[in-house]
Amino acid sequence: MRNHASLWEGAIQPHIQTELPGPKTKALIEKDSHYLSPSYTRGYPLSIKRGYGAMVVDMDDNLFLDYCAGIAVCSTGHSHPAVVQTIQEQSAQFLHMSGTDFYYTVMAELAEKLATTTPGTPDKKVFFGNSGTEANEAALKLARYHTGRKGYISFYRSFHGRTFGSMSVSASKSVQRKHFMPLVPGVFHAHYPYFYRDIFKSETPEACAEACLNYIEDYIFKLLTPPDEIAAFIVEPIQGEGGYVTPPPSFILGLQALARKHGILIIADEVQAGMGRTGHLWASQLYPGFEPDILTSAKGLASGMPLGACVARSDVMNWEPGSHATTFGGNPVSCAAALKTFELVENGLLDNVRVQGPYLKARLQALADRYDVIGEVRGEGLMLGIEIVESKVSKKKAPDLRNRIVDDCFYHGLLILGCGENSIRFSPPLVICEEQTDSAVRILETVLQQLH
Ligand code: PLP
Repeated sequence: MRNHASLWEGAIQPHIQTELPGPKTKALIEKDSHYLSPSYTRGYPLSIKRGYGAMVVDMDDNLFLDYCAGIAVCSTGHSHPAVVQTIQEQSAQFLHMSGTDFYYTVMAELAEKLATTTPGTPDKKVFFGNSGTEANEAALKLARYHTGRKGYISFYRSFHGRTFGSMSVSASKSVQRKHFMPLVPGVFHAHYPYFYRDIFKSETPEACAEACLNYIEDYIFKLLTPPDEIAAFIVEPIQGEGGYVTPPPSFILGLQALARKHGILIIADEVQAGMGRTGHLWASQLYPGFEPDILTSAKGLASGMPLGACVARSDVMNWEPGSHATTFGGNPVSCAAALKTFELVENGLLDNVRVQGPYLKARLQALADRYDVIGEVRGEGLMLGIEIVESKVSKKKAPDLRNRIVDDCFYHGLLILGCGENSIRFSPPLVICEEQTDSAVRILETVLQQLH
């Protein structure tokens, strides 16, 4: 499939024509640092003036190849013309009417789409917010409401958002909690299978999964809390910020069995992994038989418009009017953009991911075979990660080297981001083509060659 960038007759390869940052970007950064919150974690100095497909044009007319998509958000590419047209049409009709109080078609249509495409019974209900953290906040509150229980179990290195509830179940970086504690009580953390390899030296992913599930039963349930005080497990089907880690099916299905045994709900946080990114519409579908009680989505759902969704079985979402609401959630322009995103993902982009994902993975694996600092290539579809180590033999994590590689790629025109302690993530728009992956890999290889 051709990248739809060709629709604009725009270039699809990066081209850097000034020193970076260029003069206009420098001026912008100066103003930005004067007025913007210092809590933002800016890395390399990228500005954006325009985006199309997988391309980003900065203020100085440098052209970048975007393999991070605004942190896995611009699923249909930057400013897909069909999405832009939909946004324009909906904007001309009405911008807001507060879906918590009144009715409009796109909100109900999108809820139907989410209810009928997510795993399990189509008899579901949807709560809309504006972001991933709001979707998870709704899920966490709903789990307490429905079960009458107070506790949660989540996983180390998971990231669920920055509001108090979502932050309490996250365990990603201590700086995210610094000076904010105490958080929501009743949260217990268990290990996500992959990391058992480091901690307990379990050999296979399945052995890691078993160790992790045993930890919950033998330690959390026996020593810390009885299971009947736990409202929900919250789990990412693929850990995103934690390092693009896919657990074995036995972990997800084992967790589901544990949940069913003890009357605990499972929340699948698909904020980063959902909406076609893994080659499945929903990442939960990677594990046949997995039917989360609650599924949350955001990021790629509306191609860049702010929208979060908490989708639950109707018998689970049984709270009464007034229990939860938000003024802007389910904004009509965002809902219209999401409906168009669904249409594009289901009619072409998902197929593109199924071709381009394995192609990118194979190209990265070929690099890993040649370069000792790439310890592992992993992930599904266009949610791929490489782990940077000092050497394949030592397997010692190399976070500084990872940061250097990410920065150097920027100076060569490739936008990528780190994740986890020492990994690099590739989460391009779902529209990329082979030529672009060839360029991305070529740039990465140039950077790797120049390391020594
Ligand atoms: N959940 C996951 C899995 C995420 O990756 C993120 C953001 O990175 C969030 C939740 C929070 O989303 P937001 O930043 O939109 O609040």
